[in-house]
Amino acid sequence: MNDSLVVESLHEHLTDKKVQKAIEIQSEIRAYLGKFFREHGFIEVPPVIISPITDPLNHPVLDPSIDYYGMKYGLTKSMIFHKQILAKELGSIFTFSPNIRLETPEKEKTGRHLSEFTQIDVEKRNASREDMMSLVEDLMVGLTRHVKESRAGDLKILGRELKVPQKPFRAFRFLDAEKEYGKDFEAVLSSKMKDPFWIIDIPLENREFYDMESDSQPGVLRDMDLIYPEGFGEGLSGGEREFLQDRIKERIRKKGQSEEQFKWILAYSSKGLTPSAGFGIGIERLTRYICGLKRIEDTHPFPKTPGKLSL
Ligand code: AMP
Ligand code: MG
Repeated sequence: MNDSLVVESLHEHLTDKKVQKAIEIQSEIRAYLGKFFREHGFIEVPPVIISPITDPLNHPVLDPSIDYYGMKYGLTKSMIFHKQILAKELGSIFTFSPNIRLETPEKEKTGRHLSEFTQIDVEKRNASREDMMSLVEDLMVGLTRHVKESRAGDLKILGRELKVPQKPFRAFRFLDAEKEYGKDFEAVLSSKMKDPFWIIDIPLENREFYDMESDSQPGVLRDMDLIYPEGFGEGLSGGEREFLQDRIKERIRKKGQSEEQFKWILAYSSKGLTPSAGFGIGIERLTRYICGLKRIEDTHPFPKTPGKLSL
């Protein structure tokens, strides 16, 4: 894209009524999220943007690094390790965490990937996956109800009929869902369902090393994804975390990763990490679902579409 087109398309984007309404609703969503977690005893902590440790992720993205007078920093892909440390030291924490994930250009097609986005990232000491699922369900019920009431006019302009879900949400075990609906089960179920639902018990090889393996079902993790209905796809990932140094090392080995890459988290784990569980919700994806938008770009004033230059 030439330079004038970059500016033209940004101007068109920012003057689009639909985009303006989505940004206003996102502001309401952010306020609700902050209030909700504070009221549930979570402390808001500032985000970490540069660090020698970040999420390895389970899919390939470019890995930018900053050479700062000989010290090597990466850009945060998620604050998973910082959250685990803070859960140990502070208890219950949340943060609005900017993530940089330089996704491959074909991710543009999904309508739900940006290279820069914000997660509300949450972690709680001694919590179980089920505690976190229940908390998220309360959040989704309360948030959809609140937006429907406070932003009824805006939702109307967007043509969005938003349904308030009911607790408990349905949960599908990963392997059962795969057996019944095939490899593409997440997309199939997301299109079919009318309410948000869970995918739980994800096989070990499908996720990063830090999620806790089930004692009773070796090979599957004590984790979960929240999937939005109506085809909007994944909105949240989370789970219980591995906290014992030997087991962390073992899981790093199983992933074929090097201890060197995670030496800082391994060093901190010798201080004794504690059990914790948590999750991250992409705010742009949540806004897209609430507003019923085709593309995630419409939720962000300066969207970074994979493979496209933007301001
Ligand atoms: P993850 O733990 O990798 O699943 O990331 C947590 C959440 O962040 C996801 O469930 C999404 O809501 C959001 N997310 C992840 N990657 C992206 C992306 N490239 N663009 C927008 N949101 C994302
Ligand atoms: Mg995920």
